Amino acid sequence: MERPEDFRLPSVDQVLRSTVCELASARHGRTATTDAVRAVLARLRDDRASVPLDAVAQRALAALEDADQPSQRPVINLTGTVLHTNLGRALLPDEAVQAVSRAMRQPTNLEYDVESGRRGERDDHVRGLIRELTGAEDAVLVNNNAAAVMLVLNTLAKDREAVVSRGELIEIGGAFRMPDIMARAGARLREVGTTNRTHLRDYADAIGPETGLLMKVHTSNYVVKGFTAEVSATELAGFASQHGLPFVDDLGSGTLVDLARWGLQHERTVQDALGAGADLVTFSGDKLLGGPQAGIVAGRKDLVARLAKNPLKRALRLDKLRLAALEAVLKLYRDPDSLPKRLPTLRLFTRTQIELRALAERLEPKLAGALGSGWAIKPLDLGSQIGSGALPLETMPSAGLSMRPAERASGRAVEDLAAAFRALPLPVIGRIKEGALLFDLRCLEDEAAFTNQLNGLRVGELHASS
Ligand SMILES: *Cc1c(COP(=O)(O)O)cnc(C)c1O
Repeated sequence: MERPEDFRLPSVDQVLRSTVCELASARHGRTATTDAVRAVLARLRDDRASVPLDAVAQRALAALEDADQPSQRPVINLTGTVLHTNLGRALLPDEAVQAVSRAMRQPTNLEYDVESGRRGERDDHVRGLIRELTGAEDAVLVNNNAAAVMLVLNTLAKDREAVVSRGELIEIGGAFRMPDIMARAGARLREVGTTNRTHLRDYADAIGPETGLLMKVHTSNYVVKGFTAEVSATELAGFASQHGLPFVDDLGSGTLVDLARWGLQHERTVQDALGAGADLVTFSGDKLLGGPQAGIVAGRKDLVARLAKNPLKRALRLDKLRLAALEAVLKLYRDPDSLPKRLPTLRLFTRTQIELRALAERLEPKLAGALGSGWAIKPLDLGSQIGSGALPLETMPSAGLSMRPAERASGRAVEDLAAAFRALPLPVIGRIKEGALLFDLRCLEDEAAFTNQLNGLRVGELHASS
């Protein structure tokens, strides 16, 4: 019988001289390799384990390769939410990818007027396009829509009141709460009306010398139903203009095309909001627009000029990469008919249920093979969501697969299965509902990338529940 003190390990130097460690050094550097070997040996010493030299070297190499994996990597989004904030929202079209890649590799005329040889404005690369596509007098670009709202409030309502309906004091994804953003922007929130009903007279009672602006906020992730009343954008714009106050419409998602032309629910467009009389409209670049993360403020020229002069604009400005991507995406909107072919967001929205059902039928036997007999796999119809606060209650007819234990299994079986799919080289993210793992196939375009890794799926034994 082996006594604990009998365990044998090679020295650090011996391991470093192995072929495997030569390879590791070439790839990851001498210092990192030495550190990795030391760490492996230290662990083995603690465990009092005898391990041959080659195995120690292999473990060190594996640890180095593991640490070298990019932290941010691709995943397969089968959640059924197309614009998933946690999964990076919109996918960019090739035109944008190429524009970004060019801008990364070379100096550009970001803030330089090539013709005159003088300093230029970075936003000029897209201002003209936004004017052309929306009819706005002018536009200014910032980091995201939260920043757009912040810049507007800080410029037009600092130390003054911003008047908003109680029914529109939204919270989006934890950190974005309208009242908090207002406070940070230095504006005082003046709530009017009640949660379910707000009338024009509520606004009339609230305005006075302290008022900086009137704001309407798109209730992106909920709907107030039942005994409700809100003041329309048109009415509010007319009222604001009568009193010489700016009216700001925070659209959130902000689309430039009527989604109804592709059978989707109509969502108020930027043009609609400007047409209704908004002085400024704020919206995101990476929601329905299908571009990079950005915040766009479009509207009255004099107000936009004030925003551009605010020192905060410098802190919130867009970088050259996202400006390049946004320019490429906006150009696609010059030919709306081609959008479902060229803009990934619309391509995903317009995939038909028939196409997705066929995909589910093709995948079912492959999943059955990978999961084994312990699982019941069923193609089924689902409803996908747009996500990111656009049309929260609307779903697009979709299809997918459900996986549940064939027999009564232990409580954690479905969670374990979801974890096994997340552990694949391209993590597959589904959702769990009523004891089943669901895959909505709307966002699965590379079928082979999904099926090719299924043989690596490590599904544990199912334990019957007692
Ligand atoms: C999403 C959203 C925001 C925040 O936009 P980001 O681009 O995520 O910063 C602000 N307001 C509304 C109404 C929204 O829907």
